[in-house]
Order: sequence, then C-alpha cells, then structure tokens
Amino acid sequence: MSNLKLYNTYERQLMDFYPIDSNNVRIYVCGPTVYDFIHIGNARPLVIFDVLVRVLRSIYPKVTYVRNITDVDDKINQRAKEKNISISELTNQTIKNFQKDCNSLGNLPPEYEPKATDHINEMINMIETLISKGFAYVASNNVLFSIKKFKKYGNLSGRNLEEMISGSRVDVVDYKDNPGDFILWKPSSEDLPGWESPWGRGRPGWHIECSAMSKKYLGNSFDIHGGGADLIFPHHENEIAQSCCSNNSNLMANYWIHNGYVTSDGEKMSKSLGNFSTINNLLLNCDGESIRYSLLQAHYRAPLSFGKNTLTEAHKSLSRLYRAVDGFEIDGDPDKEILINLCDDLNTPKALARAHYLADQANKGSKESAQKLKNSSSILGILSHSSENWLKYGKDSYTDKLSSQPIISDKKINKLIIERKIAKDNKNYSLADEIRNKLLELNIILEDKPDRTDWRKS
Ligand SMILES: [Zn+2]
Repeated sequence: MSNLKLYNTYERQLMDFYPIDSNNVRIYVCGPTVYDFIHIGNARPLVIFDVLVRVLRSIYPKVTYVRNITDVDDKINQRAKEKNISISELTNQTIKNFQKDCNSLGNLPPEYEPKATDHINEMINMIETLISKGFAYVASNNVLFSIKKFKKYGNLSGRNLEEMISGSRVDVVDYKDNPGDFILWKPSSEDLPGWESPWGRGRPGWHIECSAMSKKYLGNSFDIHGGGADLIFPHHENEIAQSCCSNNSNLMANYWIHNGYVTSDGEKMSKSLGNFSTINNLLLNCDGESIRYSLLQAHYRAPLSFGKNTLTEAHKSLSRLYRAVDGFEIDGDPDKEILINLCDDLNTPKALARAHYLADQANKGSKESAQKLKNSSSILGILSHSSENWLKYGKDSYTDKLSSQPIISDKKINKLIIERKIAKDNKNYSLADEIRNKLLELNIILEDKPDRTDWRKS
C-alpha cells in the first residue's frame, strides 16, 4: 500500500490515492491542439504528469498513461489557411515538433497517444448514445448537450450557470435550449474538414474527443484525469457530463489533478508574449533538462514564475548535482525521502531540496549520499546525461546566444593543460598560474586530481 496523497480538484481536498485496480493504474491527461510550437506554459503539465506517472510506476506494477492529440480544431483550420498549407501538413509537422520537444524535456512517451481524427466513429457513437438517452438534442444541424439534464453539472468547477454566462465563457446563440449547452457536433462547409454522420457532414466539438478516447483506452471510469487549471471549465466539466451520461458511470475519474499557470514577471504566459517562450526557441541556448528542472522548482499547483534568469539558475543548480554524482551509475532504489516528498502531493521543490542536501553530503565525501542521489535521478527525470558531458558541454544560458558557442576548443584546452603540467614539473609556477588564469577568463575551471587534471565550464 502506498502513501501517495494527491489534491483532488473535484473534492477540493488532499486525498489518499487508492486505484480502482492496483494491477493497472489508469491516467488520462489532455494533450496539445497541434497548430503551433508549444511554449513553457504548455510544457508544465507535460513535465508534471510525467513525474506523477514515474512515481506511480515506482509503486504499482502497471500504469496506463493516455495523452491525446487534438488534430481537428478551428485554430488548426485558421492557421493552415494563413500558412497556405493543407491541414494534414500542418498537424503532421506540429505533432513531430511536439514529440521532439517532449523528448528534449526528458518526458517518457505515454502508453497511448491517440489522435482525435482516428476516433471519429467512437465520438459519433457516444453522441448517438447521448441523444438516445435524452441528454443531447439536434438543432440547426448542430448536436448539443443539455446541461440541465445532468444534475452534477458545475460540481468540478464549482460554478453555477449564471456565473458561466456572465463570465462570457459560453456562446449565447438562439438555437440553444439553454445558453450553457455545449456543442458535440457541428456542420462543416466543403472547405473545412468533415465526416459523414447521422446529422450530415460535420466535425466534432472539442470536448467529446476526450470522453470518447478515454473510454476506449481506459474504460468507463478510471483513476486520474489531469491537465492545466485552465481546462477545469468548460473542458473538464463538459467531459464529465458527456462521460457520466453516456457510460452510466458515477464519476469519469476518481482524482482530478490540475497544475497552475506559468507566469512571466507576474503575467500569465501566453503566445502574445512572443516567441522567446517556445520550447524549441529556448532549446537553442539551453538544455531541455534545465527547462525541466525549472518547471519542477515550484509546487505544481502554485503559479510558476519564469523570468530572465530562471534557466541560467536551473543550469547552475543542475551542475552542482552533476558534480556530486560524477562517476556514479544508478544502482538501487531512489532515496526514501525524495520518494516521500513526491508522494506528498508531488512536492517537487522539497524533493529537489533533498537532492541538494544529498549533493552537499556527497561533496563532503559521502559516497552513500552520491549513490542515493544518482538512484533518484530517474524518478525525477533529471541527471540523465553523464556528468562529464554536462559539465563540459551543457548549454548554460538562454539570454546570451553566444555563450553556447565554444569559446575555446577541447584540443586547445588539453594542449594548455599539458603546457601547464610541463611548467609545474619545471617548477615554473608563475607560468602554470598564468595558464590556469587564462582559462579561467574563458570560464574554464581546472581541477587537479592525483593522476590527471580535469576541466569543466564554470
Ligand atoms: Zn481533454
């Protein structure tokens, strides 16, 4: 029995985690709408839920992780038109870019990554069930879900209908019975993607894909549903309504987990803040692991402030850890305290603080602490490179593009190390110091070992 505790948005409290089937823990996380590169705000749930899945895998024999890809959406149609390329060209390229970014961030691939367009039949079937049970109706070639038929509507977000309407989060159109009713299916004109359906040629609304695909891969009810806090309403509220009503289930998922926003100088991160925050742009001048580390520094439910120096600081912190585990390979289970911190509602800041404590002990000579730290690397998804590679070639800045360029070649450094050794052998200590200082000016630090001299970037 694990001691994993998670904050459940649905119950508004921290709860002990009990899976429906401890032989197969099932988790669904809403994935990207593929029309553009992902930015740092999109990267946060990818990293957070990757760590949660790693924790679950360390406790349970099997975890089934599903993260969908939304490849039919009005934003995609609009962007393809602007770029004058086909919709499939746009979505295929964006999916490739997305998977590359996910990989750079150190995320393990989910068991299933279903695309919405491969599951149109499942969506049509679910919509037909909702109509036959009286939860949905056809109006002006649209199919709508009637929210007043579902008593629990609003339970997740804690909103009532008036608040939803006054917040202008719902379209008020005359064919709806109730302004809060939402689209399950809508008609497509010839120039837009469309599929034949009992209601004519059309395309699905956004929410129905997650209900249809989670049912297919995880069943009528599953353990954990995750996503960013901005998805609580309307997306997750609507998913619950669709799934519970079509599947006759009491709850779609037992635990609803949501991560907070990423802010830049106190403002919510968004596309309008410019390209600098896209992951592929950040990767030009820093390592994916520094981005991952920066996203784990705040508790996942708190807002995360991403500033100019965030990545430079993350790189420095990681270098400290890499120095501590230099020469160690994974050999055993993760450190107990790190695991306890992660089981406490995924307290990654505390887990990283513990990692630095172990690094301190390692630097004081504790091999046991260095080993514990190295053994904990895979549950956090950090320290995945060799220490030597990281310390010599890690990209240490994203504010200064030049800093990732080699200032001095390996060959030149090694040549200077030999010259310095010869100077020392000849007791010419002033020349030896001169060489050391010359390298230091280029941010290269020499470390004298009993049998050799190593170098790393400062
Ligand atoms: Zn979803």
